[in-house]
Amino acid sequence: MKIAIDKNNVVYSIPDKHIENEVNEYINRSINFLNDKERLMKAKSLILVEKSTKKVIFELSMIHNQHFYPLSILDYANVMLKKMKGEISNFPIMSLDSHDYNFCDFNCKDCLAVDTRKWAKDNLNFTNFDINHYKKVLKEIARYSKKRGLDSLRFEMSGEGNPDMYPYREELIKYAKEECNMRCVYISSGSRLNEKTIDALAKYAYYVRISFPGVCNEAYSKYSIQKNKNQEFTYDDAMNLIQKLVDKRKEYGREGELMIGARTCMRPENVGEYIKTAKRLGEIGADSFQIVKILVPEGEEIEKYKLNKEAVLELKQLNENYKKYGLMHIQVPGKLDYMYYDRKLDDNYKPSQCYSSLVSPILYGPNLVICTHWEKIKDIKDSHYGKLLGKEQELEEIIDGENGCRIRKCVPEKCSSCCSIYDNQVMDLIRAQLSILNDLNDVEFMLTY
Ligand code: SF4
Ligand code: SF4
Repeated sequence: MKIAIDKNNVVYSIPDKHIENEVNEYINRSINFLNDKERLMKAKSLILVEKSTKKVIFELSMIHNQHFYPLSILDYANVMLKKMKGEISNFPIMSLDSHDYNFCDFNCKDCLAVDTRKWAKDNLNFTNFDINHYKKVLKEIARYSKKRGLDSLRFEMSGEGNPDMYPYREELIKYAKEECNMRCVYISSGSRLNEKTIDALAKYAYYVRISFPGVCNEAYSKYSIQKNKNQEFTYDDAMNLIQKLVDKRKEYGREGELMIGARTCMRPENVGEYIKTAKRLGEIGADSFQIVKILVPEGEEIEKYKLNKEAVLELKQLNENYKKYGLMHIQVPGKLDYMYYDRKLDDNYKPSQCYSSLVSPILYGPNLVICTHWEKIKDIKDSHYGKLLGKEQELEEIIDGENGCRIRKCVPEKCSSCCSIYDNQVMDLIRAQLSILNDLNDVEFMLTY
């Protein structure tokens, strides 16, 4: 039986297209046993309920829990509702992706950061982010979002280089949590994580995802292309690091909120190793495993990279059995056709607006940019909100001022493809549903299980 939980933690059953008050006490009790992480990760769909009639007027099942964690689709839906009710003047920044460090110890095949890194150095004079400047910028972003109804935004440190190598990482994570009430998400290979940063992550972060260039020692070495062959960081080292993070998380009693996971992209050498890796992750107490397609390299024909039968079979099996292997969440590509992904395929599905440029802009060093798309990062005139100095109230002008509005007018029409296509489509869908309702005070979004 499907159930839903409202904002006051009341549990309802959903016998058909409406909610009912009664659920038996066993269901009630088992729902109340779920910790915060399980509540977000086990949700099956988002529903919109008309409170007076108890009718379910809209349901969305593509809710990508791992993608939004530690926020969820419910936060995005509620922000849209607040905006349409006129309770907030503009959207808050909900997820901030920060590209703050520009060097890497790996030279991965198909790394997307190689060109942008060089470009940023030449055009933005950006190689590093001064810690005091960085802290002021975070403070200002937290203030801006809080004023627009979001107390605790998702702060993702990833991209462009190896974030482990940023010398102030531990201090920054602590500051983001304690002074800005941000929920930190950390994405790296983990090859250069020191003990202090591991400790800070276990204590303050909400999601740590370790990237695997390959899911066995051979593939890891082949695709990470590390300079110093004698001191290579290996697949086994990465697994040991995850074990250490899991142990530290236990020490701090944060199993209920910190998600620890791994991610890899599809490679021929990974076939036959995905399930073994999932089992190993499950055994050591990790929560999630993502297998993704990366962007097809420039000039390459995607048709050359068809997935073979063994890969398809293994990934399907993994998708069905991940709970048996001890994992809470798995993500494999919806279409098991090619090893790579061609963004141009999505051009037909362009959203009507780019919400992403408001709710999830990126910090590129101190520069606030509308999205992570490579073309946008390079387009200073029409994609950069501006350089943040960390001054109080500067974001009102940067985002909501004339220039911010002007650059958002160019998108998505002028985008050749979209790196946040799903987020934009979902926001569009939610807005469309709300726009046809007479009384926005008579509706509530809920997650179902
Ligand atoms: S770890 Fe990431 S940034 Fe570094 S080379 Fe590999 S893909 Fe590029
Ligand atoms: S590619 Fe265009 S539409 Fe997509 S997130 Fe970037 S600016 Fe928005």
